[in-house]
Amino acid sequence: MKTDFFRKRGVKFLIPRNEELDAKLYEASKEFLDLCNFAIKNHYELIKQLVDKYGRENVTLSNFCILVKTDQVAFIGTDGQQYQFAQKVQNRKKGNQSWFILADQHASDIVDQTQGKITDTVMSKMVANRLKMNCSDIVKEVSQLAITRLSSRKRQKSKNQTTIDVIVDKDNPPVFRSHTLYSSKGLFEVTDSMIVWNGLTRIEIPFSQIVPCKRDDYSIEDFIGKRKGGYLTIHQTQPMLNKYGKRIKTRKSKKHHVFVMTTEVPIENFKLAFNMRGWFAFDINMTKKYWLTCYDSLNDKNIVIHLPEKFGEIINIRKDHNEALQNTDKAKRRENGLRSNHSRYIRLDLQKLNALQKRQITDFFRNQIIDELEGLSILQYCSKYKLGLAIDAIQPGKGTGSFYQDAICMAIPVLCEQNGIPYDLVDPKYTSRTCSKCGNLHSATDMKRMKKDDEFTCKSCGFTGLSLHENAARNIAKKASYYVGVEKKVD
Ligand SMILES: [Zn+2]
Repeated sequence: MKTDFFRKRGVKFLIPRNEELDAKLYEASKEFLDLCNFAIKNHYELIKQLVDKYGRENVTLSNFCILVKTDQVAFIGTDGQQYQFAQKVQNRKKGNQSWFILADQHASDIVDQTQGKITDTVMSKMVANRLKMNCSDIVKEVSQLAITRLSSRKRQKSKNQTTIDVIVDKDNPPVFRSHTLYSSKGLFEVTDSMIVWNGLTRIEIPFSQIVPCKRDDYSIEDFIGKRKGGYLTIHQTQPMLNKYGKRIKTRKSKKHHVFVMTTEVPIENFKLAFNMRGWFAFDINMTKKYWLTCYDSLNDKNIVIHLPEKFGEIINIRKDHNEALQNTDKAKRRENGLRSNHSRYIRLDLQKLNALQKRQITDFFRNQIIDELEGLSILQYCSKYKLGLAIDAIQPGKGTGSFYQDAICMAIPVLCEQNGIPYDLVDPKYTSRTCSKCGNLHSATDMKRMKKDDEFTCKSCGFTGLSLHENAARNIAKKASYYVGVEKKVD
């Protein structure tokens, strides 16, 4: 019987290929952009109005509000409605305070007595009134964006100039000119391909690369996240299949606010070398002493592998590089002799180090003799006892590259496929907090207590005698369910 071997593959973002939907997405971005610019113009006009009425020195723009220094009164907002000081509120802590509010509203917020504050809420309301829109979350997001955009003029100009000088001196408000959607959490740009920014990483996904599938229609609210705004919210209504008939799963990555699509793709020319009898599981740690805490589920024993000396050197170089890149303080960068174009070389060097780490790991797993493993290398040991490799798969990204986690997660699949060894990249979620005997999940506070003497003691069943890492390695072996060539257990 012929068995197909599949490997799990992830892509960082997903938009199904469909011309009609592409056009809709583009339209949605334009619409959102117009909304942003409309809001900016409105805010800009409002500030100009206030400056004309109360004088330049009495109006200040902050990130969250416009401050007006005055003893009076009322003004007409950009939406044409009259705004006035709310009734002054007696506040024991802050004294007499009041907001600018719509004439028919009630005072619920507080502000300094001598400075009439126009809050972002007031400004959002003006925009919303003009737009006649009910979707207040979008308006709020856009409104906040407008304020940020206006006040960011301050940073572009010299530090001596106040924000308001910069704004009223310009003839035109600082509008967005490209179809780039910004948000507080991230941004994406809509062109014929999609560009997603994940921190400083630019991910480009050509629409043509994406598999066609059926979807319900999108509306603008689907594209502009209702709460977070700016990035896509996809409602998946029916299962999507890739061209091999495998199901595509999407999930939202909380950490980076991008969608991750995983699917299964066939591995060419892959044959299992043996029928598996157990797992050899790894818990990767950021310490030299407990670098790899392993668990052999067949022989039921824990093995600790220390970090080889030469690996430590590269970790240190990487650490220095990352620190140099993260240092945004100009003076300090100059002190370290780091000019802006030097960072490019550092990045290139980091790429080279990544490749080197991958080669080192491949060699380590294949050839490095480990005394605790009966004088065999890890791969030889796995072959001897017919064990699959289970690794806690940390998502590659910022800060996970140190201590070879990235390299291990990338090198192992290739290495295993070449040698016909089953493997699984296990989701590391809760592996350290779960009792490996009874499965009881412990709280972060419990873990803090256990970390003190580095011994796992289960609150529920009393299981003890293992270090935290050893317990985690056992959980990884337990969680490992998928291996190449064998049907995945349904979880
Ligand atoms: Zn337990």
